[in-house]
Amino acid sequence: MDLRRSRLEQMLKVLDVDGAVQRVRGGWISTGHPWVYDSERYTAVAAARDRERRAMLDYIAATTCRMEFLRGQLDDAEAEPCGRCDVCTGRYWPTEVDPARRDAAAGLLDRPGTPIAPRRQWPTGMKALDIPLSGRVPEGERHEEGRALARFTDVGWGTELRRILAADAPDEPVSDRVLQGLVRVLADWDWAQRPVAVAAMPSATRPELVTDLAARIAGLGRLEPLGSLEYADPSGPGERRHNSALRLAQVHKVLRIGPDLAARAGQMDGPVLLVDDHVDTGWSLAVAASLLRRAGAPAVLPLTLAAG
Ligand SMILES: [Zn+2]
Repeated sequence: MDLRRSRLEQMLKVLDVDGAVQRVRGGWISTGHPWVYDSERYTAVAAARDRERRAMLDYIAATTCRMEFLRGQLDDAEAEPCGRCDVCTGRYWPTEVDPARRDAAAGLLDRPGTPIAPRRQWPTGMKALDIPLSGRVPEGERHEEGRALARFTDVGWGTELRRILAADAPDEPVSDRVLQGLVRVLADWDWAQRPVAVAAMPSATRPELVTDLAARIAGLGRLEPLGSLEYADPSGPGERRHNSALRLAQVHKVLRIGPDLAARAGQMDGPVLLVDDHVDTGWSLAVAASLLRRAGAPAVLPLTLAAG
């Protein structure tokens, strides 16, 4: 939209607020309400903006306490010198950051991994959905506490994970940087027993990413690649449902373990890493873990890129 058009649009919006015009499909119409240019009001607004601009310049050049100045701007009658700002102390505060402190902060933000708790209880109401699951998830069918590289909301990895896993992001192999992040998560993981193999979750939307992730984790850790679980329907469980029972029903109907994976999982003498791109409700991982455990896997450790 060019400048003139956007100015016109702004003007029409102001007139709309004042009740003089009304937006209709394809444009604007006059409401017929009389409208006059309130020059007194607009002059006052312009003067206020002018004062604010000058106040900002004054703040930069301030020779009195900066906090006192700011409180004065907010009409605080008790504004007084703070004793801490650069004007009060006569000390200049540089904007450079001590590298050691920056590294310490980065280390905290970049700390490896976020836990994935196992589901211990099936949701109620599964029988009504024709799924024979109820009560506690049996000890022998649960996964252990897992790890995600980060939550989507995390300051450190969150931005990158939101980009990689965005609905319109291409399905491509995992980057070396993300893989290095996962290696740190694995190194930091205080599991009871080191995993011996890797299985992948099936993915309807990002098969390349998840398959590559599982293969590279297996390669780096010298773990046995077991392949992937399967979806009975290639479109997967369908759009994510936020109701636990409905989500579990979706997953339960399509997630399968093939005979090869089942046979190999049963031969393992240690935990199986179960790799996926992200965990949300945790029902997919719960069902997958139960399939692997019932096939004989001694333990299942979920590992995902993102959580939440
Ligand atoms: Zn001060």
